[in-house]
Order: sequence, then structure tokens, then C-alpha cells
Amino acid sequence: MNHEPVIEARSATKIYQSTGLSVRAVDQVTISVTAGEFVGLVGPSGSGKTTLLAMLATLLRTTDGNLLIDGQDLGAMTDGQRTMFRREKIGFTFQANNLVPYLTALENVELMLRLNKRNGSLSRGRAKELLTRLGLGDRLGSLPSQLSGGQQQRVAIARSLIHDPSVVLADEPTANLDTERANQVVSIFAELVHEEKRAGIMVTHDLRMCRYVDKVIQMVDGRIERVVTKRADIDLLAGTSGFDRLDRQRSGQVPNHSLHAGLTRPLPISAFVGAD
Ligand code: ADP
Ligand code: MG
Repeated sequence: MNHEPVIEARSATKIYQSTGLSVRAVDQVTISVTAGEFVGLVGPSGSGKTTLLAMLATLLRTTDGNLLIDGQDLGAMTDGQRTMFRREKIGFTFQANNLVPYLTALENVELMLRLNKRNGSLSRGRAKELLTRLGLGDRLGSLPSQLSGGQQQRVAIARSLIHDPSVVLADEPTANLDTERANQVVSIFAELVHEEKRAGIMVTHDLRMCRYVDKVIQMVDGRIERVVTKRADIDLLAGTSGFDRLDRQRSGQVPNHSLHAGLTRPLPISAFVGAD
């Protein structure tokens, strides 16, 4: 097995600057994820999870430190190079699923391939297969508006995997799903990461979903608070919600939406088609 990291953050730091205010959203984060490893990223609201994911997805630049994917330093790339790199190597789904409203489920998934100029019957077959595996075999021709939130989220997951990326990033992919569907989606997601040897990071508020991951990374105030790698410890977390209590305590159970402006708003479609 290859233990070279696919994803590597070395003291990665992001400071947001806005009028007289500077927020250290990600603070000297060092992590690594190998091929075939599925990581759960957890932590209270505002702890920097989305920011870290957006930086790894090449949608945001670091203020300091380095991010490497497949050994390539993201900070050293021009915007154009980052766009090409993203299209080829990275699959992501954010909370706002950014499906194109006038394309069907199948077309939304195929869109990623067309951007990479990898269209064709083979890809269509793969798109159908992925959607079917995610329980949407009978909804291939539906528009996003004809799908439930959870179904849209599953289309977004299929889209994030279709171009065979080495890195898959998902920000709260189960936020709109009921427990049964969440379990189904995350277990399939985990299978697809494991089988196809991708490096996966999933942000989740639902510690029960950690039963499907190989490693749990907890962030607090922009920093890595702890990394849980032992299977028994992960299963304990997933079963007893140890962090959950901590999470509720620290966040006061009130999601601070105003603080999330900028990243929880839907990303522009240019994020996917790469007009950055
Ligand atoms: P999480 O995903 O863990 O909830 P975020 O990465 O969204 O955390 O946010 C981390 C911190 O950065 C928070 O304090 C948040 O308010 C701040 N933040 C996020 N996006 C922006 C932005 N675009 N401009 C300024 N501050 C931001
Ligand atoms: Mg977030």
C-alpha cells in the first residue's frame, strides 16, 4: 500500500481581513491524508473546517504555510494552473450543492466530464452507474427542482466523483438527509473512496457518520485539537457522541450564520467551470 500522503497541509494558515478585523480562521494546520484514506473533519461551528476544505479545493489561497496535493504545492500555482488542477484532481461538494438548475441529474454529473473534455458513451455509463449506486437510477432525467434536498445532495456527490479525482472533499454532505439516507450515502461514499484509492475528507456535524471514516480530525478555533486514529476510539465517538457534547458546549448550539457569510453562500458556478 502506498503511504505517501495525497493531501498534505503544513502549518496552513488562513487569515480573513475585513475592515479593521482580522480572523485567523485556520491556524497552522498540519495534516496528511493518504490514498484510500477517508477522514472525518469535525469541530464546532466557526472552527475553520469549511475554510480548510476551500483551500484544499484551490478555491481559496492560504495566507501562510503550504498545501500539497499529490506532492504539488498549491500555493506555487498560478490561478490558471489551479483551475486545471482542480478540474482534474479534485472533487468537491459543499453544503450548497450548486447544481445547474436547467440540467437534469445525469447532465449535471456529466458536466464535470465535459469540462475535462472526457465526454462519451463510457462516461455516460459511468455517470448512470454512480447515480444508480447513490439510489437515483430512476431520477436521471429529473431537474434539481424536481428532486428533494437529499436527492440533490446525492447528485452533487456523484458529480464530485465522476472525473476520477484523487482527492474528494465534502462539506456536510448529509446536512439535508435523514439518518437512514445519511448512513447509506456516507457508506457508499466511503466505499468509493476506499475502492478507488482516493484521499477523502468529509466535514460532518453528525459524529455517528464517523463510523465510516478511518481517522477523525477535530478542529477548534482554527487549530487541530486532536486526531483520532484507533478504530475502537473512532467507533466509540461514533456511538457515544463524546465530541458532540463538547461541540454543543463550545458553540452554544447556535449556528452563527452571519459569521459564515461568504462561504456558506452558494459558490458561483464559476467555481466548477473554473473561471477564477
Ligand atoms: P466552519 O466551517 O468550521 O464552521 P468556517 O471555515 O466557515 O468554519 O469559518 C471559520 C472562521 O472564519 C469563522 O470565524 C468565520 O466567521 C470566519 N470566516 C469564514 N468565512 C469568512 C469570510 N469570507 N470572511 C471573513 N471571515 C470568514
Ligand atoms: Mg462550515
